[in-house]
Amino acid sequence: MNTFKLKRPLYLYQYEALLRRLPQRHAQYNAIKKDYHKYLAGFQGEESLDYILSIVNLHKEAFICRGLRLKNKANDYFFQIDLLVVTPYFIYIGEVKNHTGKLVFEPDYGQMTQLKGEAANTYPCPLQQSKRQARQLQVWLSDHSLQETPVYAHAMISNPHSQISSNTPIPELYHADLLPEMLDSLNLTNSKRIYTRAHLQKLEKLLKKENEEANHFLIEKYNLHSHEVIQTICCRFCSSRRLRRFRQKWYCTSCREKDEQTHMEGLQDLALLNVGFQSLSTYRIFLAHISAATAKGLISPYVIANEYKCKGRKYKLDINKF
Ligand SMILES: [Zn+2]
Repeated sequence: MNTFKLKRPLYLYQYEALLRRLPQRHAQYNAIKKDYHKYLAGFQGEESLDYILSIVNLHKEAFICRGLRLKNKANDYFFQIDLLVVTPYFIYIGEVKNHTGKLVFEPDYGQMTQLKGEAANTYPCPLQQSKRQARQLQVWLSDHSLQETPVYAHAMISNPHSQISSNTPIPELYHADLLPEMLDSLNLTNSKRIYTRAHLQKLEKLLKKENEEANHFLIEKYNLHSHEVIQTICCRFCSSRRLRRFRQKWYCTSCREKDEQTHMEGLQDLALLNVGFQSLSTYRIFLAHISAATAKGLISPYVIANEYKCKGRKYKLDINKF
């Protein structure tokens, strides 16, 4: 059995870059930090499945994918699947939630209400989300000439301390700890082999190829201006902006520390934040007012493309080059 390891998603790095680049006194800083912690908790919830997945019993040709994001040709929209288990007999989709407190499910209304202390927050029902993904996956499979197979859409709560509540029992909804038993029972009820070894290999290869990680445009999302995140880099030891570049090193005139990598983190952050094309003078100011030649030398390994505009050449950083 092959398991795609759960990769730390790009958007977490993007949020971390934004929180590093934005001054803490910024009006949106706390709201952005709150959103980051929400995404981080979601990722940690999915990560907590690692152990459960290591003890599931599956056919030796089965494979598992985590955090998939695929595009449907017909409408050009992406759909995301937290957990996909592909076996020769069936496919299992698991939507993973990490909410705390008491979770009241009303799938008929497509909602889940989280009760925590005095607060009540309503979210889309994860089971309905999972069923929608199953429909999209069926279309995707047929677009890629793979035959129909039973697809089971379930939802899991990865936080063992949250309380699941519903008026009627919902067999497809449970704590993640029950996943091995659920897969065992699906193994028992699906005895007709649909996918051959060749089908499974084709599908696994295709999923790896077509999986497209989400790139979040946080500057646009929070209505920021790129100049708010392109503030001159600062010392890694004392946060002072009084940096000088000398003999390929950064010297801090405040704390007298020296360092070679200070610019790297800054440039990487700009790439993560998709600041796009910027003039050489913008990079010079960002890199503590260094000369044009030095700035060009420092950015050149990470630049993908440049374009001429009436105001001169512009440079864009590519995160894949770091
Ligand atoms: Zn310093």
